[in-house]
Amino acid sequence: MESTVSRVLDGKAIAQAVRAEVAERVRALRARGVVPGLAVVLVGDDPASQVYVRNKDKAAAEAGFEVRTVRRPASLRQEELLALIDELNRERGVHGVLVQLPLPKGLAAEAVLERLDPAKDVDGLTAHNVAALWRGEPGLVPCTPAGCIELLDRSGIELEGKRAVVIGRSQLVGKPLAALLLARNATVTVAHSRSRDLAAIAREAEVLVAAVGRARLVRASWVRPGAVVLDVGINRLPDGRLCGDVDFAEVQAVAGAITPVPGGIGPMTIAMLLANTVRAAARQSGLAEDARVRG
Ligand code: NAP
Repeated sequence: MESTVSRVLDGKAIAQAVRAEVAERVRALRARGVVPGLAVVLVGDDPASQVYVRNKDKAAAEAGFEVRTVRRPASLRQEELLALIDELNRERGVHGVLVQLPLPKGLAAEAVLERLDPAKDVDGLTAHNVAALWRGEPGLVPCTPAGCIELLDRSGIELEGKRAVVIGRSQLVGKPLAALLLARNATVTVAHSRSRDLAAIAREAEVLVAAVGRARLVRASWVRPGAVVLDVGINRLPDGRLCGDVDFAEVQAVAGAITPVPGGIGPMTIAMLLANTVRAAARQSGLAEDARVRG
């Protein structure tokens, strides 16, 4: 047994450091006459989306971005939403556009995302950016997986040659995270709802990531002693509290390092949204080569 008490990876503190660096880069861009702008598109009145958008707006404003929330009713038609995206694509003061998902019924998210200018796609979900990620070309990377890698890097956790298992294969988290881990020379397995003997697959992992959406799915018996465990899941318990996909209390006794929920990957996701937006602004204004506003 390598470890009995795991190190808790403090996503909140690391995210704070990333946000301070982003704020510094925003100041440098402003000094060069560029005010980085983020537009957040919120259609309908889904309560969880309202909270997420409020948090993103607040974080972006704190970092010095010009933030605009564009609210539209759930009755918005597909053509109207596409016209709005076209308008934001054209606006020079808007460097990043984020369409809050899920969209209300009747609106096709894929077509809407595809309409986005890839240079402004700060969620990294357009086909252009997905292809760039898998090809190892520059682009914008989805915020949650980028946050996982940033957290590992800043915690001094090496990935080269490690066995990594990602549970979950969504476009938003599992798949792009697999690409990022592979790019770091980890040996990557992606598991999902049809995987047989998930516990045995998970036990192989030196780095285990749960991105499923099932409260406390990952038990201590699934975890290899000393493994690094990242918990992406955000689940609401019947009593209203939030919990991850990992049984934290149990797994903490086996893992070498673990992220909590809340306070782990969630804050990193917002920090990486800001990092993507300042990068997009620097690239669009031709200042990406400037060391102070690195793109
Ligand atoms: P998603 O689109 O619902 O994907 C879930 C994935 O988990 C799917 O690939 C699914 O497999 C797999 N899965 C479902 N049940 C399973 C089971 N019993 N065993 C093994 N695999 C199973 O969800 P997501 O968008 O990736 O999000 C995953 C979780 O992360 C959610 O709790 C979400 O709230 C959270 N999240 C957190 C952040 C953050 O900032 N921390 C950001 C995004 C998402 P199939 O493909 O076979 O259906």
